[in-house]
Amino acid sequence: MTGNDMQEIKANDPAHRLESNVRSYVRSFPFVAKTASGSTITSADGVEYIDFLAGAGALNYGHNNPVIQQALLDYVSGDGIAHSLDFATVAKNEFIETFDSAVLQPRGMDYRFQFCGPTGTNAVEAAIKIARKVTGRRDIFGFTHGFHGMTTGSLELTDNPYYKEGLPGFDQCTHGPLPFCTDESTLEASISSIADTLQRRSQNDDAPAAIIVEPIQGEGGINIAPMGWLRALDTLCKQFGVLLIVDDIQMGCGRTGDFFSFEKAGIDPDVIVLSKSIGGYGLPMALVLLKPQHDVWKPGQHNGTFRGNNLAFVAATKALAHFWQDTDFADEIRAKAEHIEERLQSLASDYSALDLFYRGKGFVWGLESRREPAIAGMIQKMSFERGLIIETCGRSDQVLKFLAPLTSSLKEIDRGFEILTDVCDMLDAQYALDGARARKAASA
Ligand code: PLP
Repeated sequence: MTGNDMQEIKANDPAHRLESNVRSYVRSFPFVAKTASGSTITSADGVEYIDFLAGAGALNYGHNNPVIQQALLDYVSGDGIAHSLDFATVAKNEFIETFDSAVLQPRGMDYRFQFCGPTGTNAVEAAIKIARKVTGRRDIFGFTHGFHGMTTGSLELTDNPYYKEGLPGFDQCTHGPLPFCTDESTLEASISSIADTLQRRSQNDDAPAAIIVEPIQGEGGINIAPMGWLRALDTLCKQFGVLLIVDDIQMGCGRTGDFFSFEKAGIDPDVIVLSKSIGGYGLPMALVLLKPQHDVWKPGQHNGTFRGNNLAFVAATKALAHFWQDTDFADEIRAKAEHIEERLQSLASDYSALDLFYRGKGFVWGLESRREPAIAGMIQKMSFERGLIIETCGRSDQVLKFLAPLTSSLKEIDRGFEILTDVCDMLDAQYALDGARARKAASA
C-alpha cells in the first residue's frame, strides 16, 4: 500500500471525520480492518497484515481461534443467555469451575472470584477498594512507568504525565522506582528503601493500604521486575500488613510463558487482576482474584450492569480447557520464545548504526535503540507500510513492543521478522550514511 492510498482511507473513514480526537490506534495503523484469522488481519481492500500487537494483549489465542469460535457459535445458536447481570448461569459456572481446576488448583492457589465491569481498569478499581476496605487506609503505592488504566483510581496509579495533563488532583499516589535490572546491590537498595518507607509510614500510622505492581510493565516499556525482588516485595507487604496487588492484565494468561507472570517468583499476592486475554476471543471480561479473607464486600456493594459477559465466559472456558489443562501450551510458548529471541539477537547484532538492544521473555519483547528514541517509531511506521502491525511503548514511545498471539506459528513469526529486517536494513544504511556525512563535515 502506498502513502497516497493511506491518505485516501483516512479522509474517507467515518472515524476520521466523526470520532473524537482521542482516537489513537487508528493513527498508528491508518487502515480499515475487515477480517482476521490467527495472526493475520485483512484490510477492507484486501491487504494482509501480520499482527504483532494482538489487540494489545487481548488476543493471546489469535483472531477467531476456530476452537473458541465454534463454542461461541454453538452457544449463540442454542439461545444461550447473552446478558444476565450477575445471575448464576451455566456459562459462568463452567468458567469458574474450569478456571479453578485448570489454573488455580494445579498451582495450589486459593482465591475467590469477583466479576466487575468488563475492562482492565474496572478490575483495578475494585482491587483498590478492596485494599481500602480491608485495611481502612487510603494510599496505594505504585511504581514508576506503571500502567493500570484510565479511570479515576487507576489513573492515579498510572505513572505517565501525558494521561493526567489538564486533570488536577491525580498526583496523590506515591510511585517508587521499579528496579528493572539484575544488579544485586541495586535490588537490595530498592527493597531497603521500600522497607524504610513502610517502616516510617507505619510508625506514623500512615502505612499504605496496598502496593500494586506489574511483574513486567507492558505500556511502561517492557520493564522486567526480577523474581527475587518480587519475592522480597511480597515479604515486606506481609511484614507491614500492606496488601500486594499484582496487575497481570497484560502479562497474564500465558504471555510470559507461564499462566501468571509471577509464577516463578512463588509469591502469594493478596489480589490479582486479570483482563485482556482472559476473555479468550478478545471479548471483554475482567476478573479480580482475592484471597478469601479479603472478601469483605457486602452483597452488591460493588455492582455494575455488565458483570456477566456470558459470551466471554464461554470463550474463556473453551480457551482454558483447550490450552491450559496440561503444560504443553506453556512448553510450546517457551520453545517459540527461543526462536523469537534468536531473531531479536540478529537485529541487535546486525545493525550497528541503529545500535539496538532487546529484553523480554515468552511472547513479550521490547526492542530499543541506544542511538535515538525515535527509531522505534520509525520502525513501527515503516513496518506497517510493509504489512506488519507492531506498536511502540514506553514514556517516549522509545520501545518497539513485540506482542504477537501466543498461537503464532514460526512461519508467521518469521514473516514479521523479515519485514523488521528489511526496515532495519534501510534505516541502518540511512543512519550509517548520516553518521559518515557528519564525521566528514566535522573533519572538514
Ligand atoms: N493494567 C495493565 C497492566 C494494562 O496493560 C492495562 C491496559 O493496557 C490496564 C491495566 C487497563 O486495562 P483496560 O484498558 O482494559 O482498562
